Amino acid sequence: MKPAAFDYIVPGTVGEAVGALAEAGERARILAGGQSLILEMRCRRCLPELVVDINRVQGLDRLRVEDGGLQVGALVRHRAFESPRVAPGPLGRLLSRTVVNIAHPPIRALGTMAGSLAWAHPAAEWGAVAVGLDADIELRGRAGTRTVAAHDYFHGPHRTECRPQEMITSVRLPLLDDTVGVAFVEHRRTRAGFAQVAVAVALTVLDGVITQAFIGLANAADRPVRAQVAELSLIGAEIGASLCGPALFGSAHFYPDSLDGHPFGHAARIAAEGDADPCARPYADVEYQRQVVAVLVGRALCQAASDRQAHAGHDGSAGEWR
Ligand SMILES: Cc1cc2nc3c(=O)[nH]c(=O)nc-3n(C[C@H](O)[C@H](O)[C@H](O)COP(=O)(O)OP(=O)(O)OC[C@H]3O[C@@H](n4cnc5c(N)ncnc54)[C@H](O)[C@@H]3O)c2cc1C
Repeated sequence: MKPAAFDYIVPGTVGEAVGALAEAGERARILAGGQSLILEMRCRRCLPELVVDINRVQGLDRLRVEDGGLQVGALVRHRAFESPRVAPGPLGRLLSRTVVNIAHPPIRALGTMAGSLAWAHPAAEWGAVAVGLDADIELRGRAGTRTVAAHDYFHGPHRTECRPQEMITSVRLPLLDDTVGVAFVEHRRTRAGFAQVAVAVALTVLDGVITQAFIGLANAADRPVRAQVAELSLIGAEIGASLCGPALFGSAHFYPDSLDGHPFGHAARIAAEGDADPCARPYADVEYQRQVVAVLVGRALCQAASDRQAHAGHDGSAGEWR
């Protein structure tokens, strides 16, 4: 199908873009990568009267490390995160392991992280990372700029804190130091489909003891959520060296039962029963979705611990965990 008729402008500055949004309000839509918007317009599920194409706005493609964070401009494409060198240390590894799960290369060449957060599909991978790491999202309107923490930003499927008169100008992800191990684990029903469930994990481990944990979930509720009760259950837990074997940590066949009595098995169940609030799908009822959350959180925790071990030796601490 063809989209309905619409007006189209190409502003050169953020000021011009938000000026147009201020006048048109809910009748306008920003066009970034177009990988969700164009499809919605063609299916006539989205009928903007004005499309504000930000692709020529100077400076929005900026991607840089500053003040302890990675600043991601609104025009930075998914593809930019394919190399782990996009950010130092664990953050770069987490982003590069995440992005390969998003669609396929032509979509990653055009789609943007900011566009994905703006679109707010509950299964979008960047949502799990943004909420898991508690990213800051910068919103700009005619009245000025405000920064919203990711956990306050998502209101539900395709509903966010970004008002129709505002646009996302950048996203700030905190850098992670070398005591952090990271993982991104996802299950998809088809190769190019959206995630059935996805999990982003960042674990700080010192001498085999977890001192901080971040767990972000996609498609485990009507919006991306942080598994805060599961995270709390992990603080102070000794994860032990006996589970460091690549056979278990790298395993794609992990089930929580394999870790009965281990903090990871316990946290996986808490995430599934307490933090997740899954919706029934045509292919999976709520109980099945919870089981998928438990399995994937367990796998992600194992992989994050393994990642921490593989990159150990930078923090100077003693023992097997270095
Ligand atoms: C076949 C296919 C498979 C896909 N698979 C996945 C997948 O597995 N995982 C996944 O996460 N995504 C997937 N996507 C979506 C893809 O990641 C999109 O790129 C992303 O959702 C939107 O980014 P965009 O830059 O293309 O935004 P656009 O399509 O340009 O815009 C999307 C929405 O966000 C708004 N918007 C965009 N930028 C801003 C901004 N800076 N400020 C305010 N509002 C803004 C637009 O107005 C629009 O409402 C898939 C898409 C397709 C077509």
